Amino acid sequence: MPTNPYLVNIATISRKPGTMRELELDLTVPERIGEGLIYFDKSAELEVDLRLESLHDGILATGDVHGNLGGQCGRCLQALDQEWDGHFAELFGYEPDESLEYHVQNDTIDLEGPIRDAVVLDLPFQPLCEPGCLGLDPVTGEKLTEPLPEEAAPVDPRLAVLQQLLDDDE
Ligand SMILES: [Zn+2]
Repeated sequence: MPTNPYLVNIATISRKPGTMRELELDLTVPERIGEGLIYFDKSAELEVDLRLESLHDGILATGDVHGNLGGQCGRCLQALDQEWDGHFAELFGYEPDESLEYHVQNDTIDLEGPIRDAVVLDLPFQPLCEPGCLGLDPVTGEKLTEPLPEEAAPVDPRLAVLQQLLDDDE
């Protein structure tokens, strides 16, 4: 089984309140993060500046995450390559505690959930290659360089499906 790149060992500061560790992680995304038109694809590289603080009841993990998102423009379908920066802060409890989402297990913490949440909650529903992208000409299929004369630009059927999924969630 491949090792989980999101696991971080905290043994050196475990149950030593007041101690801390700072480290930089370079991790390779094992499974795509993001379900829509924009995402960190499998094998994307993420840099995480991680700070671990030992508290009485657990390990506080805060991190700045940086990477390049891939995907496609929601209007013209051009491939995207966009830098992304995000942040997370989560307490990993030592003891089972229903008020906490994450826990220390075997002197390790698993950052997949916090990183995934930070990314997914931040992704735009309709990513654009550039602000004000005009999309494709419905007749020629070419990328438009000026607006269509009428405002009746049809909704991309794939986006209509996504919109429906979102509506169903609510
Ligand atoms: Zn575009």
